[in-house]
Amino acid sequence: MTSPTARSLTCRSGAVRRLRWPLILALVAFIAPIAPGRAAGSSHAAAPATRRASTCPTSRSVRHTAPGDGRTVALTFDDGPGRTTDQILAILKAHHVVATFFNIGEQMDGERSTLRREYDDGDALGNHTWDHADLAALDKATQARELDRTSKKQKHLVGVMPCLLRPPGGTYDQTTLELAAERHLAVWLWSVDTEDWKAEGSASSYWVDRIISRAEAGAGQVHPVILMHNPEGGEPATVLALPAIISFYLSHHYTFVTLLDRARHHRPTRAAGSGRGQPRADGA
Ligand SMILES: [Zn+2]
Repeated sequence: MTSPTARSLTCRSGAVRRLRWPLILALVAFIAPIAPGRAAGSSHAAAPATRRASTCPTSRSVRHTAPGDGRTVALTFDDGPGRTTDQILAILKAHHVVATFFNIGEQMDGERSTLRREYDDGDALGNHTWDHADLAALDKATQARELDRTSKKQKHLVGVMPCLLRPPGGTYDQTTLELAAERHLAVWLWSVDTEDWKAEGSASSYWVDRIISRAEAGAGQVHPVILMHNPEGGEPATVLALPAIISFYLSHHYTFVTLLDRARHHRPTRAAGSGRGQPRADGA
């Protein structure tokens, strides 16, 4: 007696035999219209970045809340890549959560592997200007250069253009918003400030506990965006605080999201501009 497995294999083989020529003809008919377009597409190397950019939000509103349904939390790390970025990536991966990194253009040289790791792990990469510029103090051309140099650098190293902009210090003007919209950069600030940068490289328990405490205060919000840092010189207190912060939000049934999740799903913004949890104007 033929076993069910053998019978199904036999049936599949017979079906393939019967369908061989119709299948081949169908495949030829399917491939033929595609092939000339691919052959003519000399600029296809740029296609992934173009596709990514086309899914970026175009709204000019400034956002402060995490995307997604239910309770969601977005961890954000500014001022990298830096000495502690790889440690942060390892902690995120060990806990199976994602985050968003707002990187500084002039710090990207020599950091291709770290930036690729951010991208490959499913984290989002955002533009934090070329040299941590105070955008509102600059004229239009200089602001544009700050944004474009950084985006091009990320494209060169990672292969995709950023969809997100966080102006350093959270300071921007109408020109910034117009330039960002033209470039499909969603301007995204934060709703919870851990003030981790005030530790200034200290790894003392005082700073670790303070960062944890300030981060956990975000549980009063449904969609907190938590501001932390991974500057060039590193911020060890942030690294030490991170596992406790992740565990806290997991135990409170939050889903960890990147800020790009909204761009990927392209949902209309509901909570933007609510005014709740306005960020401080320093520290980012
Ligand atoms: Zn910053």
